[in-house]
Formats: sequence, structure tokens, C-alpha cells
Amino acid sequence: MTLYVQPDVSLKPFNTFGVDVRARLFAQARSDDDVRQALAYSQAHGLPLLIVGGGSNLLLTGDIDALVLRMSSRGIRIVHEDCGHAVVEAEAGEPWHPFVQDMLARGLAGLENLSLIPGTVGAAPMQNIGAYGVEIKDVFHSLTAMDRQTGQLREFSLQDCAFGYRDSVFKHDAGRWLILRVKFRLSYSADLHLDYGPVRQRLDALGIKQPTPIDVSRAICAIRSEKLPDPTILGNAGSFFKNPLVSAELAGLIKQTHPGLVSYPQPEGRVKLAAGWLIEQAGWKGFRDGDAGVHQLQSLVLVNYGAASGAELLGLARRIQADIAERFGVELEMEPNVY
Ligand code: FAD
Ligand code: NAP
Repeated sequence: MTLYVQPDVSLKPFNTFGVDVRARLFAQARSDDDVRQALAYSQAHGLPLLIVGGGSNLLLTGDIDALVLRMSSRGIRIVHEDCGHAVVEAEAGEPWHPFVQDMLARGLAGLENLSLIPGTVGAAPMQNIGAYGVEIKDVFHSLTAMDRQTGQLREFSLQDCAFGYRDSVFKHDAGRWLILRVKFRLSYSADLHLDYGPVRQRLDALGIKQPTPIDVSRAICAIRSEKLPDPTILGNAGSFFKNPLVSAELAGLIKQTHPGLVSYPQPEGRVKLAAGWLIEQAGWKGFRDGDAGVHQLQSLVLVNYGAASGAELLGLARRIQADIAERFGVELEMEPNVY
């Protein structure tokens, strides 16, 4: 079938900030063939190609002079099973949270801590999505990506992806690889990770002594729903800044003036600071300028109260970065992909 390319399309429904910008051209890819046609189209017309999934990690700062290709491919299959494990492959356009729920319903554990993260399967490896002490690298098997320059397919192993904290080879080689489908190695026996944030306390409060992966998923959904704004109600892209990794020396210096500093020692002597805590200490929690603001419950989340432009949200983010650098000597790195 021929790819349906639409001119001048509003991207407001396709980014969770709800920023109202327009794409010069827009199409949805439901198959590898659609992706190939989009690549050929963009090359033939000399137009860049911008891939989007759920638009939950994007900040669009102006109209997009490109062919915006939304990954809408579907399909989930078990490709291999052995002694208590299964390798499951999902197409890039599969929505992430329903995929997690589907795996749990089939008795497959491993993704429960990553419940309720918006977006698609295909975007998940981009920043090695993580929550409550689990990252997709922990359950990743391999993925298939298309080289946008040559159209060739390539298999990426765990090592090839160079996953790091909210990081992967795909972030660094931006725009080269288009992820088509991802394989995960999941387990029929649970190896639960409960010692992160308030997960165990929540299960205890519910009187659950021997939780199943489904219990953990439910607890995490409940915690997240109380704390994080629902993008369908209040535009946002989740955490706007990564938690900074700083030297033990700098963490020690900050602690002298701020004894309540929230910090987590990391390998190689580095220290992870809670960016949300720094932003809150600096007085930004609940700040609002026009329709761009900092969420009232979670300072790490920038929000769009309705009509904020991407440029206004970016301006607010830069003000926060400058303030945190001045007060604490810490550089905050933005997490969403800015276009
Ligand atoms: P998009 O925003 O559409 O795209 C993100 C980037 O990936 C863009 O650069 C895009 O070009 C590229 N891309 C998308 N699909 C593909 C593909 N198939 N091939 C190649 N490139 C592609 N993140 C976490 O890590 N942990 C969390 O707990 C978390 N919680 C969140 C909570 C909320 C309320 C929100 C709004 C966001 C949260 N996020 C979290 C961020 C976001 O949901 C994830 O990063 C998610 O994986 C983004 O998926 P997406 O499909 O929306 O990607
Ligand atoms: P939280 O529980 O209030 O904790 C604050 C920060 O402390 C988190 O960012 C987390 O870092 C860190 N932390 C907590 N317990 C830790 C431990 N035992 N060891 C090391 N670090 C620890 O965080 P939250 O904002 O409610 O988010 C809960 C989880 O969901 C976090 O893992 C967070 O990353 C994830 N989340 C991510 C996004 C996103 O858009 N990226 C949005 C919402 C939630 P880490 O962030 O490094 O885990």
C-alpha cells in the first residue's frame, strides 16, 4: 500500500506537552514497507525525516519543516522459550504500558517497575527508560533498526546499544537509526525489585507480604498516579532534567550548606543528586509564568497549562538551569529531545 502523506498537520495531539506546532508533512508507518517509503519520500523531496512515537519525550519549539513519521506498527510475539524464560518481540509502535500489562497478564515478569511510562516500545531504548531501580537494559535482548542512510537492517545486541543512565548509542548517533522492533528477555519466575523509593512501603500498607509482579505494577501505578501529572489533563513530558552525576567533592560542598541534600552514591566515586530536590530548594516548585510552569507536586516536571509554546517552556527550562548552576554549581541536562 502507498504511504499516506498529509500536508500541514497540527502536532498538538502527537506530543504530550500539547504544544501546538505544525508539521510540513505527516505520515504514519504501520509496517517496514511504510518506513522505506517514508525514507524514499524524504530523500526524493530533500526533506528531513523526524520520527515520533508517543511524543512523550519531545519538546517542539516551532513548526517542523520535515516529514514527521509516527511509528504505528503493531505486533507482539513470543519468539523463544526456555527453562523459565521467554524472548518476546514487540513492534516499535506498540504503546509501552499496554505492552507491560500484556506481559504481566501472560505471567512474564521483568517490566513491572516500568509500568505506566508513556510512549512506545520503539522509543524505549532511545534513553534506556528507567524507573524504580529498573532500566530496559536489565531485560533487553536485542533490537532491529533500519539505517536511515542506506535502508539496511541491523541487529543490535545489548553491548551494541551502549546503554547508560537515560542514554544509548541511539541518542548519540541521533537521526541515523530507526528502531523497528525490540526483543526482551522476560521471566516466568519473579525476581522483584522493591527497594527503591516508596514501593515496599506501599505494598506493606496494602498488607501484601509476598507480592507478585502484578502487585508491584499496581503499587507503582498508584504511586505514579498520585505524584505525576496525567499528560491528557496537564501537558508535560515527565522529568524535564536528568538527575546529575557529580563528584563526591561537589556533593560534600553542597551538603555543608544544605544538609538535607538528596544524594545517592554511584560506582566510581560519583554521586547522583535528585534534580527535583535541587529545583525545589531553589524555590521553583509550583512556579508559573503564563502557561509554562513547574509542577506543584514534582519539581522535575515542567507543565503546559494550556497555551504555552515550546519556546516558552524551553525559556523556563533555561532559567532553571542557570539558577541551579549559580546556586549549587551543578549543570542540569535536559532529558526531552528538543526540536
Ligand atoms: P517520543 O517522545 O515520540 O520520541 C522520543 C525520541 O525518540 C525522539 O528523539 C524520537 O525521534 C525518537 N524515536 C521515537 N521512536 C523512535 C523509533 N522507533 N526509532 C528511532 N527513534 C525514535 N521516561 C523514563 O525513562 N522513565 C519514566 O519513568 C518516565 N515517566 C514519564 C512520565 C510521564 C508522565 C511522561 C510524559 C514521560 C515519562 N518518561 C519517562 C519519558 C518518556 O515517556 C519516555 O522517554 C518514552 O520512552 C518516550 O517514548 P515516545 O514513544 O513517546 O517517544
Ligand atoms: P522519587 O521516588 O521521588 O525519587 C527522587 C529521585 O531519587 C529519583 O529521581 C531517583 O532517581 C532517586 N532515587 C530514589 N530512590 C533511589 C534509590 N534507592 N537509589 C538510587 N536513586 C534513588 O522519584 P519520582 O520522581 O517519584 O520518580 C520515581 C521513579 O520514576 C524514578 O526512578 C524516576 O526516574 C522515574 N520517573 C522518570 C520520569 C522521566 O520522565 N524520566 C518521570 C517520572 C518518573 P532515578 O530517577 O535515577 O531513578
